[in-house]
Amino acid sequence: MASKKKLKLKKGVKKRLFRLILVLIVIILGIKGLSIYKYHQTYEYKLIQIGYTKEEANKLEDKISKEGIENLLKDDSRDDDVLALVSEKYYLKRNYDLYLDYYKHNKSDSFEKIVAKVNAGAYREFYKDTQETDTSKDILVLVNKYKVLTEDYEVNDLKKIPAEYSYGEVEAREECYNAYLKMAKAAKKDGISLIVTSGYRTYARQEEIYMEMRNSQGKRYADAYAARPGSSEHETGLALDVFTYSATTENFEKTETYKWLNKNAHKYGFIRRYEEGKADITGYSPESWHFRYLGVDTATKVKNAGITYEEYYAYYIEK
Ligand SMILES: [Zn+2]
Repeated sequence: MASKKKLKLKKGVKKRLFRLILVLIVIILGIKGLSIYKYHQTYEYKLIQIGYTKEEANKLEDKISKEGIENLLKDDSRDDDVLALVSEKYYLKRNYDLYLDYYKHNKSDSFEKIVAKVNAGAYREFYKDTQETDTSKDILVLVNKYKVLTEDYEVNDLKKIPAEYSYGEVEAREECYNAYLKMAKAAKKDGISLIVTSGYRTYARQEEIYMEMRNSQGKRYADAYAARPGSSEHETGLALDVFTYSATTENFEKTETYKWLNKNAHKYGFIRRYEEGKADITGYSPESWHFRYLGVDTATKVKNAGITYEEYYAYYIEK
């Protein structure tokens, strides 16, 4: 009798164990099914379904907003152009829609150019829909044909550059003035003489220059060779036109003085602001003599990056 009871008991335990295992299996399968279902709802899965690799899908999710991804998913195949765009070094997530819009109308530009132009704001017409620039950036302020200074902008730490290193009355903000003197003295030791012909200009003075040119040569000419008031860096007190005696705007780039500046200016906090081949980004024709003070750290970084200050500002300074 006793052994029969034991057997029954054993059978009962086995049955319960079997049920428990069954329940566990159902639960595990359920969880798995749910997680597969959940994965199928992700952008990663949906992007892979239309031809992107897992890495590409993750990159797109990282670089594009949700709305952007939703738009990509409306296509039924992968878009290599979008992948090329988001892989650009200075690509900015906040400008994604602007890049696409610009690209739609300018298919011949490279993605590098598109990113540079859009970041700089240069996808718009010069002087159209200008914004008041952020003067709280102080010596890093960006002034151009999109970001402008207002008529009431004032600088209060101007200093007059000594006659030894300037031509006529030239003023600059103190920090720029100090850096320039240091640079001019170092150049002198190397047998190079630096002469500043233009520094700080008031809004009113810039207006005079522009209007004189416009009245005598017409609007098109004036816009090509002078800045409208509010959009000249000279109004910041941080830009200097540097020449040497006997040099002109035409031949300055060929002088030893220019070569010296090109090699050394960043060490004193200056960059050449308007380079060759960048007028569609900066809005200004090449000027080998126009130097902008940014401080040694930023000037060196801009120089090493080999980009315009517009591009640098959009990527590293503007929030
Ligand atoms: Zn200048």
